[in-house]
Amino acid sequence: MAPRIEQRQQALVSHRTNFWGRPSAASTASWRYRAQPRVVKRPDDGQPAFQRSVRCKVCKKSLTYSVHSAQAARARQKRWRTITYVSLAIFVVGLLGFILLLVLGGGPVLTGIAIAASAGGFVAVTCIGQVAAEETGVTGHFNSWPVISKHAVALDRPGVAELVCPRCGHAEEFGRPSVYRDGHPQTPYEVAKARLEAHDCRTP
Ligand SMILES: [Zn+2]
Ligand SMILES: [Zn+2]
Repeated sequence: MAPRIEQRQQALVSHRTNFWGRPSAASTASWRYRAQPRVVKRPDDGQPAFQRSVRCKVCKKSLTYSVHSAQAARARQKRWRTITYVSLAIFVVGLLGFILLLVLGGGPVLTGIAIAASAGGFVAVTCIGQVAAEETGVTGHFNSWPVISKHAVALDRPGVAELVCPRCGHAEEFGRPSVYRDGHPQTPYEVAKARLEAHDCRTP
């Protein structure tokens, strides 16, 4: 799900504090960020992107982002979605072609093309699908690229700002599947909230 885009909205600018992923549940790694809430104000539709600088509180680096209008941001989300669907189609066609060539006995060249198409389509779906899911219309510094970037700008999903410690800026992410504790399912939000309350607070 791509983030909701509004003309003026709360965002979190975060600095990644660990280089290697910490192992977390379900054989995934997670990255710890320190976040500072910010209000993103977008240019009017049809206007060029704003250049906005924000100084990271953690590393003091000045980060300049391009802030696109709500219309442009939605168009970017749509473009990524379209590319994802096209890649998915290439993957499926490549796979079907490969199977068909196996059954009918195709030459090595055609089979190679089919394998390349399905493999390329698969990689594109995975990478671009992630970009599509994270496009915020705020670009720069690898934001919403399929890489684990040093700094990230996330738009405020409901309640995200409350998951930032007001004292040290420690941020908890949520959105991972719920876990069970004492036999009761907890929402990802409750889990993140509990982690925030238990975090090792170091006031800078
Ligand atoms: Zn930083
Ligand atoms: Zn704290």
